[in-house]
Amino acid sequence: MIDYVAPLRDMQFILTELAGLDAVAALPGCEEATPDLVAAILDEAGKFAAGVLAPINRQGDLQGCRLEADGSVTTPDGWQAAYDRFRESGWIGLSAPVEYGGQGLPRLVSTPVWEMWFATNMAFTMLPQLNVSQAEALQIAASEEQKATWLGKVVSGEWGSTMNLTEPQAGSDLAATRARAEPAGDGSYRVFGQKIFISYGEHGLTPNIVHLVLARLPDAPAGVKGLSLFIVPKYLLDAAGNPRARNDVKCIAIEHKMGIHGSPTCTMSYGDAGGAVGWLVGEANRGLETMFIMMNEARFGVGVQGVGLAERAYQAALGYARERVQGRNALTGEAGQPIIRHPDVKRMVLSMRARVMAMRALLYTAAGWFDIAHHHPDAAEAERCRRYVDLLMPVAKGWCTEIGNEVCDDAIQVFGGMGFVEESGIAQFFRDARIITIYEGTTGIQANDLVGRKILREDGATLRELLVDIRRTTAQLAEDAALVSIGVDLATHAENLESALDWVLANGKDNLADVLAGAVPFLHLLGTVCGGWQLARAALAAQRRLAAGEGDAAYLASLIELARFYMAGIAPRALAHAETVREAGGPVSRFAESAF
Ligand SMILES: Cc1cc2nc3c(=O)[nH]c(=O)nc-3n(C[C@H](O)[C@H](O)[C@H](O)COP(=O)(O)OP(=O)(O)OC[C@H]3O[C@@H](n4cnc5c(N)ncnc54)[C@H](O)[C@@H]3O)c2cc1C
Repeated sequence: MIDYVAPLRDMQFILTELAGLDAVAALPGCEEATPDLVAAILDEAGKFAAGVLAPINRQGDLQGCRLEADGSVTTPDGWQAAYDRFRESGWIGLSAPVEYGGQGLPRLVSTPVWEMWFATNMAFTMLPQLNVSQAEALQIAASEEQKATWLGKVVSGEWGSTMNLTEPQAGSDLAATRARAEPAGDGSYRVFGQKIFISYGEHGLTPNIVHLVLARLPDAPAGVKGLSLFIVPKYLLDAAGNPRARNDVKCIAIEHKMGIHGSPTCTMSYGDAGGAVGWLVGEANRGLETMFIMMNEARFGVGVQGVGLAERAYQAALGYARERVQGRNALTGEAGQPIIRHPDVKRMVLSMRARVMAMRALLYTAAGWFDIAHHHPDAAEAERCRRYVDLLMPVAKGWCTEIGNEVCDDAIQVFGGMGFVEESGIAQFFRDARIITIYEGTTGIQANDLVGRKILREDGATLRELLVDIRRTTAQLAEDAALVSIGVDLATHAENLESALDWVLANGKDNLADVLAGAVPFLHLLGTVCGGWQLARAALAAQRRLAAGEGDAAYLASLIELARFYMAGIAPRALAHAETVREAGGPVSRFAESAF
């Protein structure tokens, strides 16, 4: 397997030229993010990814996890040492507030860092990612006393974290949740029920695990408005705050699955021996709102998993395509050609690179908006960026995971037969990637959220605002003779997007089933156009730097070509997606279920 090399040049270009690192670093509370510090952090994270996480990725896949007879779960060799180093280096708290022991760096800085870790070892990185998401939820909803007890240990990674939503009958639909919690009369609760598919629900990597559990109080209303959130630790704490007595929660099974073997996926049983002790977080019956904070954090992170895995697969495919010799040159007839000289293989590898860069640029740009939304002193600007983040969160999750899968699939094709056999290692990325379109809300659920809550509910207002920004970019492209064709293509795809938006808005009330049948194509459409928009912005920035005689001219020119390729080779999918949105819903609705 080709070694992972952190794509620092691409990351730096996107951070500075597209995602507005300078502007983010000028925000109150983000001043630490100086260019030198950011470069040093990325450099260190890249070394950690390549030197510590990548080397144990394969053995994690081969060994997997084991549920022992005593109910403990064993993780792969190397996990403990890597986790200890990860935690001691302070990586978990990179973007957590300083007051809770974090480093307070902007999301824009932590995003590329997490990308490198997901790229090199996704199964491992899910563990600290859960801490980051849980810390976000506790910051917002936990009481001061709860924060003092739990939050610091979660931010430092001293204790592990989990999120417990899923039950056998409650997957996408959390309204069906049955786990229950009863007040114990002393301010605590007793939690009962079973949760399935809980990532890192049990392990021995940390001396305690903080479970966040969705459950119903006795008098709770039906549906999602009757869900409350509870902290349920694996070990109850003694007077000094140290883990002591085992709580009434245990792992009763772990899943055998197609990928992420190093991440234990646990069935958790709460309250078999009288009730698991827990404490209510935030208000009763508003648990889902808090859980959504955690899930939104995690959803963005899963989008980053998409680009990380895709980058790793792209690097492997490129390396293999340069080394593997097969066939004759189609033009010269010369034998002994590396397969990258075959136009079809070259197209596949270029297409992988274009999609990786489009996803990365979209995610980092969204991370920059997230920071502005949280820190900008001008309320209107902060609000505008909050709207953009809200709109694009399902795209960051849904599109980047779908495309991440596609890229991993293409990598197998580039490897040919060697891609199908496990020995080459490329199959692991494909298998690991398959979960990302499913957990944290399937692509279907993301698409419903996009079309329902983010578009129909506000009559498409934010998307129209975004379209204005996209057209501002097309106008800039039109002013430069060298880039005008990119601008024309982007304008065409923006029109496809707008026409699909108009159709969705016109049919949202009377033909909702037709609209929802096209929700996933709509998500793809928006992702495809936004990805193209970002690469077009990259072309503009590259051209500016070329004109100023700054930077590596060959690299900058390649970014312009990359945008051209995306417009010709990837973005035309927008037309098909728009057509599917408008035309496929009717046949889907009319097709009789009995006719299958
Ligand atoms: C490896 C792994 C790790 C996981 N980690 C965790 C964890 O840490 N914590 C946790 O709580 N859960 C976790 N999960 C659970 C995961 O979040 C769920 O599997 C996921 O939300 C989908 O739920 P489901 O499996 O019940 O599928 P279902 O909800 O049954 O969905 C099946 C299909 O129906 C579609 N569908 C369902 N409802 C709708 C709808 N309304 N509109 C359109 N389409 C719909 C879905 O898109 C999907 O295609 C994990 C799962 C796995 C496999």
